[in-house]
Amino acid sequence: MIIFKKAKQLSACLYQEKKQMHKIGFVPTMGALHKGHLSLISASKNANDLTVCSIFVNPAQFNNADDFRHYPITIEKDIENLFTAKCDILFLPSVDEIYPPGFKKKHYDLGKTENILEGLYRPGHFQGVCQVVNRLLDIVAADNLYLGQKDFQQCIIIKKLLQLTGKENKLRLTIVPTVRENSGLAMSSRNLRLNNDQKKLADEISQELFLIKENILTQPIARLADDAKNRLTQKGFVVDYVQIVSANDLSVPTEPTEPLVALIAASIGGIRLIDNMLLN
Ligand code: AMP
Repeated sequence: MIIFKKAKQLSACLYQEKKQMHKIGFVPTMGALHKGHLSLISASKNANDLTVCSIFVNPAQFNNADDFRHYPITIEKDIENLFTAKCDILFLPSVDEIYPPGFKKKHYDLGKTENILEGLYRPGHFQGVCQVVNRLLDIVAADNLYLGQKDFQQCIIIKKLLQLTGKENKLRLTIVPTVRENSGLAMSSRNLRLNNDQKKLADEISQELFLIKENILTQPIARLADDAKNRLTQKGFVVDYVQIVSANDLSVPTEPTEPLVALIAASIGGIRLIDNMLLN
């Protein structure tokens, strides 16, 4: 595996690869890698000649300074994991490399999806995500981009970004299913911040999603969401939302045949976790 720290050097290397018609798969991450991230690497390896992973904790997407300060960093272990997964290239840029002096942040017109759910609780988050993803895609110029369903709303936002920037014609987006612990807990870098009791409690989030899925055909949507929210609150979570919405655009469902997704965001001891599940 080759590690690049400089954007220009990485772009030059990938340009040569492209000249040889090599297909490039790209997996952007913020590090503290786990099996979820590695499933994206594996999906990319299966469909491309070359897999590039980036690790960059993007300050622009954190609306909470504490969350940014405490974001887990395990870079040596990450390099080992990527090496074992036979990732070809790791891009490990500094903040200045991604946002060089004079870098002009763009504003993306992301529509309604930007300010609901995660957008409501993390103002500016999706603009920050788009800044970094667009910059990384300019550097990597990949053929295939791999994102996790774990960040469901982010996938919808990135689809929109690809449309807005015209990149959708050059790049295929693949969404990889969420990898879970045996207990059902969605793997997440933030799980590293949970103590044993909190981790056990965190299982309740996925349990509620499984319960919603089990009962979606027999109970009203509003009741399912309210009951889940109440139970999580009683167990000690601070619940931002439990929502059952259209899986196409996260709007309130209107058609009985519409694909649905349930999404939960809840914190334990100030550590905020998100998860979601497709329901039909
Ligand atoms: P992050 O490092 O949290 O920014 O995540 C990088 C990528 O990995 C994103 O596309 C995430 O959606 C994806 N990802 C994170 N956790 C999981 C998981 N448990 N299963 C599958 N993909 C995941």
